[in-house]
Amino acid sequence: MNVSVQPTEGDDWSQIVVAFTDLTERRRLEQSLRRANEMLQRVNSDLEQFAYAAAHDLREPLRTIALYTQLLQKLQPEKLGPAAHTALTYILQNAVRMETLVGDLLTFAQTIEPHDLTRLPLVDPHAIAGDVLTSIAGTIEQAGARVAVSRDLPAVAVQAGHLRQLFQNLIANAIKYRSPDRIPEVGVTGTERDRHAVFCVSDNGMGISPEYHNRIFGIFKRLHSTEIQGNGIGLALCKKIVEQYGGRIWVESKVDAGSKFYFTIPASLL
Ligand code: ADP
Repeated sequence: MNVSVQPTEGDDWSQIVVAFTDLTERRRLEQSLRRANEMLQRVNSDLEQFAYAAAHDLREPLRTIALYTQLLQKLQPEKLGPAAHTALTYILQNAVRMETLVGDLLTFAQTIEPHDLTRLPLVDPHAIAGDVLTSIAGTIEQAGARVAVSRDLPAVAVQAGHLRQLFQNLIANAIKYRSPDRIPEVGVTGTERDRHAVFCVSDNGMGISPEYHNRIFGIFKRLHSTEIQGNGIGLALCKKIVEQYGGRIWVESKVDAGSKFYFTIPASLL
């Protein structure tokens, strides 16, 4: 396209040239952003497909290992010495553990973005948190925990199952990582701020040292070994869900001073 600019008396040419340069620069930036975005989406989808295929194909051989180990344990008890019996028990335990991990990986890969974010119905977070408390009532009772859910949680347009997973993981963790010195107290609150719904799940548990605040959201990242059971996938799943809606998740915590997990859902979806 040809653009001809006729100066009239009093025109400031330097300003016209600057405006032209800015536009070209903006277009170039937009193009490279679009390309980067497309590449990210491709890489993401490749990774998801890979995780899905790996998890699916790994499960079958693992089940077979577990099955035959059990058969060996049952069929030949008199021929197995104590050392062989212990070895078979370890094989079985690890095959079962790996199957759980692979199953979690599958759940992670299958948690996909809703097709049309703008068409999701508003859900009531208070009701969803209530469902979660019912489903983990046994855990709450066993730990003697007190869980308080605010009545004023902002309604959000998200898939109900996604919000349930967020509350479920965060509340269950708040109880699981309790302090041995205190009765666990968990709070669920929410507010609207800067065009976002901001939810917070707080606890008075063992807390997390600041150098781990980012790391714990990585897949299979844990700060505890087997003394507290877990697979290190819950927070990675929370992060994935929240980011699919354009929100973010983070933690504020200090060792032995409890934790506050925050997550946001943008107001464009409210
Ligand atoms: P999992 O609980 O299966 O290990 P998560 O992804 O849910 O996996 O959590 C990752 C790690 O973050 C946990 O292993 C634990 O060390 C830490 N963590 C999560 N929630 C809390 C919490 N409320 N208080 C203290 N530590 C926590």
